Amino acid sequence: MDQASIDALRAEVIGPQGHLIGGQVVPASDGGLMETTSPIDGRVLTTLAKGTGADVARAVAGAREAFEDGCWSRQPPAARKKVLLKWAELIEAEALALAVMGVRENGTEISMAYKAEAGSAAATIRYYAEAIDKQYGEIAPTADSVLGLVHREPVGVVGAIVPWNFPLMIGAWKLAPALAAGNSVVLKPAETASLTLLRIAALALEAGLPPGVLNVVTGEGPVVGEAMGLSMGIDVLAFTGSGATGRRLLEYAARSNLKRCYLELGGKSPNVVFADAPDLALAAKVSAAGIFRNAGQVCVAASRLLVEESIHDDFVAALVAAAEAFRVGDPLSLETQIGAVHSERQLAQNLHFVDEAEAEGAQRLTGGGRILTDTGGTYMAPTVMAGVAPDTRLAQNEVFGPVLAVTPFRTEGEAVRLANGTDYGLSSGVWTRDLSRAHRMIRAVRAGVVHVNTYGGSDLTVPLGGVGQSGNGSDKSLHALAKYENLKTAWIQL
Ligand code: ADP
Repeated sequence: MDQASIDALRAEVIGPQGHLIGGQVVPASDGGLMETTSPIDGRVLTTLAKGTGADVARAVAGAREAFEDGCWSRQPPAARKKVLLKWAELIEAEALALAVMGVRENGTEISMAYKAEAGSAAATIRYYAEAIDKQYGEIAPTADSVLGLVHREPVGVVGAIVPWNFPLMIGAWKLAPALAAGNSVVLKPAETASLTLLRIAALALEAGLPPGVLNVVTGEGPVVGEAMGLSMGIDVLAFTGSGATGRRLLEYAARSNLKRCYLELGGKSPNVVFADAPDLALAAKVSAAGIFRNAGQVCVAASRLLVEESIHDDFVAALVAAAEAFRVGDPLSLETQIGAVHSERQLAQNLHFVDEAEAEGAQRLTGGGRILTDTGGTYMAPTVMAGVAPDTRLAQNEVFGPVLAVTPFRTEGEAVRLANGTDYGLSSGVWTRDLSRAHRMIRAVRAGVVHVNTYGGSDLTVPLGGVGQSGNGSDKSLHALAKYENLKTAWIQL
């Protein structure tokens, strides 16, 4: 990846996009269109099909037909693996073009998007492709007179609804295990980050995925997403997004066919720094990256810093220095460390959180404002708010922006109480050189992930999922396959 290649791609014209249904690119049933805009400069990139309930019904019917005819679902796992490996190869061959296209639409800094988007999607598809022909059923330890077999079967039609921050990475976390297990899929990208998912779906066809097995319906959440939630033909819904939408999906499921819903709903992740952390300078840098990269638009962002009182002032000063040293700007420049805030709406929300926190008594140590206004894009300076009281809105709610809430603590017990003092439970961090304390904290912190002496950067081998109102069910690792499979028992009298 070099700047010249990025610059050659950044102005490429992107034509109008349709849905991908039954292997065909099709317009919305009523011809509706919606624009997608770049947060880099506020300009319109292209138009997308603005999906309808009828589009969802058509995609679900096609997905069901493909599932029933067995062209994918009843292929030997080794045959599915072959197609998926080819798909990963095609994605990798276009990695830079995909990364640039995605950044133009969502504003993530290219240095991160290149690895975290196309690269990670290809790796995820490979991981589940390689896993699927190594997974066995079971023979139950029954009495001698019977044989109990446990089969794993694909569930049928999987609906995937994904957000805009890492469309390819999060999309692949759902598509790859669902497809590897033999399901058909209907995917709804976020209205503001659809282009790269449409492109990789086209590449799947090229790789040999039979038409109808993977369908993409673009459009608005309350229309396309709702129709998927209420669909009688979707068996499992896999979602990443806000808690408010997650709640709606559970309601839709209750009102329709009781489809299983897996929800990944973000967090307010505590990052706990004890005075005995092995390297406080490193801890400050990594903690800053843990909240500020991708402008804080990361579900596992380390958005609450809990720091032991005895080191509070020095540590926070180091962190502020790290925050101020980040280069914020054009997401397509390799120099940039923090790209754009995704939208005007998101930026307004971020700024409101800062104002509110100040009104509630927190001190703004750096940032807090919109910057680079002459670009026409949406940018915000990394923001550190100190003295954030645990019961205030900034301490309790996900901002999804570059805003860090700092709160001091005196004892390990107080650190645990603060860490667990929100409705969320997605990610967390603990910095200490005391091995026993690290293990006590791993047990005590209520979260899907506890990082020790680092933050972020896990790989596919481990699950990622939340507890509490951060959701249920995990993406990544072999455990994710179970979400897209049913167990079937055969009880055979001998
Ligand atoms: P965010 O605030 O991060 O955009 P959302 O939950 O609104 O989070 O969006 C995540 C995904 O959920 C997007 O694909 C969006 O279109 C979809 N979505 C939004 N509202 C609904 C809804 N009412 N029903 C189903 N999906 C929805």
